[in-house]
Order: sequence, then C-alpha cells, then structure tokens
Amino acid sequence: MPHSKYTPDQLERKIPIGISACLLGDNVRFNGGHSHSNYCDHVLSDYFDYQKFCPEVAAGFGTPRPTLRLEGDPTDPIMTFSKKTGEDLTDRFHSGSADYLDTLAHLDGYIVMKNSPSCGMERIKVYQENGHPHMQRTAGLFTKKLMERYPLLPVEEDGRLNDPNLRENFLLRVFTHHDFRHSVPEEPKLKDLIEFHSRYKYLVMAHSQPIYRELGRLLSGNDPRSIKALKEAYFKTLMTCLSKPAKRKNHCNVLMHLVGYLKNAVDVSVRKDILDVVEQYRRGEVNLVTPMTLLHHYLKHHGSEYINQQSYFTPYPSPLGIRNTV
Ligand code: SF4
Repeated sequence: MPHSKYTPDQLERKIPIGISACLLGDNVRFNGGHSHSNYCDHVLSDYFDYQKFCPEVAAGFGTPRPTLRLEGDPTDPIMTFSKKTGEDLTDRFHSGSADYLDTLAHLDGYIVMKNSPSCGMERIKVYQENGHPHMQRTAGLFTKKLMERYPLLPVEEDGRLNDPNLRENFLLRVFTHHDFRHSVPEEPKLKDLIEFHSRYKYLVMAHSQPIYRELGRLLSGNDPRSIKALKEAYFKTLMTCLSKPAKRKNHCNVLMHLVGYLKNAVDVSVRKDILDVVEQYRRGEVNLVTPMTLLHHYLKHHGSEYINQQSYFTPYPSPLGIRNTV
C-alpha cells in the first residue's frame, strides 16, 4: 500500500529485524551464557520486532558446547572445534541454517554478535595449520551467507552500534529499507518511484549529489528498462549510496540549500542566524540536531508541503536521539 506520508515517528508497525539470539539474553553461547545487549533489547525494541536465531544451536552443536573457530583459506574457511579434533563441521553448520536463510526476505535489517566465527560480520580470525591466524580476516559463516543472499539488507554488529556514526548509518538504512518496501508497491508505476525519490531528495544529496542525479536519470522516463528492472536498480543504487555515513561537509551544503527556501519568508537576520548555526556544525561545535531543529522549525511554518515531507528531517524516530550524537 503506497504510503507517501511515511514518517518513522508514526510507525504503523514495528520493523522486522533479525538478531543473534544471544544478544537478546538467550543462554545459547558455547558456555551456556548470553551476550545481552541493553541497547538492542531495551531501546531499539520500541521500534524493532526481533526475530532471533542462533546458527550454532540450529546446527545441533548443543549448549554448552566446545568453542568453534575458522581454519584454512580465509576466502573459504572451514569450521572446526578450537581444540583440534580434525573434524570439518562446515557442512553440518550450514545445513542447520539453510532453510532458515530462505525465510528472511521480509527483514529490514539484521544485528549480529561480534567476534563470533558464526555470527561476526567482519574481522573474524581464520587459523593456519601452524596455529596462528592469517592476517586476512573474514565474516562468520552464517553472516557471510546472509550478506551474500540479501546483499542490500542492512547488517551491523552489536559492538559497532556503540559508534555514533555507524549507529546512525545502520538505523538510517533500516528505516529507509523499510520505507521503500512499504511505500513503493510490489508492481509500481513510475509515479510511485518518483514520489519516493522526491521525499528522499535531500537525504540522498547529503550522501552523494552525483548519485542523486543518477537516481533522477533512472526515473526520467527515458530508460528503456521495465518498471520492475528500474525499481530494482533504483533500490540497489539507493542502498549502496546510503551504506556510508554522510560527510559533515555534505550535510552543510544541504542545510544551506534548505535555508534558501526561507528566502522570501523570513527576515535576512533570521537566515543569517541559521547559517551561523550551520557554520558551528561545520566546525564541530554542535551536533547535527542543532541546525536541523532550528531550520525545521522555520520550514514547518514557512516551507512548502514538498519540503516538509522530506525524509531528511526525520529519517529515524526522533526519540532515539541519534542526531544528538553525530
Ligand atoms: S554469536 Fe551467534 S552462534 Fe554464537 S551464541 Fe550468539 S547467536 Fe549463537
């Protein structure tokens, strides 16, 4: 159902998110313990409907169990017990998750446990024959399959969510992923994509002006591809564009551009005050929330409907306070 007025502050339903079961406090770790994440379980849970899974338990390794590790070729490692038994557990591990991986197309994001040879997203050690790890690191075997199967799905490690910029970027991608899949119909018309693109103009521009123009060309009506192919190409380009945090310099350019919409509506001294705050943000003296709140206040009163529906102002729920931290 198209939903052009989507805003994360008025979510109609919680967002389906996959998560490593130990992060929600399930006692599924090798030692019978958990790795409970307060942020995931008590903050993000207001917005996320979690679907938890432990691939090691699903593979039948039991709890508690001997610790596991990756060995061999870092580009295609095998899973073994850390205490050398010579047993290759890779096929057994994958067979426990294969059917489950088939069922995840509805998810809008996935949070995985760091440092796990099964769930880690990056920097997982792969051991050589001599017992030392390779320099080259990899993803855990489950998460590697997950990312191969759903390459546009936002995936992040719980530990990296402590970094304000990485947290902001993950949540931005989750809410955008969710919005696109609920705002743009399964079989859209070109106008549905254009409507979405209009709302995301300034958000995309804050990440990349060339990609904003590239997305516009896709929807110009001159592309001979089918609407289904255009939708896929649009979504892929959008999610790839958002996969890196926006630079402060780009935010400043967008904010200054938005101040231009107040040109005939407010006094020049007011615009100068707003631009001064944008400069404070550029110098790192205030966080993004400060110029954004000030600007949005004036645009709400003096801006057009087009400007006020921009997802740039509320890409994720305001109560999360994300823009107080970047
Ligand atoms: S990190 Fe993954 S495999 Fe390990 S206990 Fe947590 S959910 Fe299970």
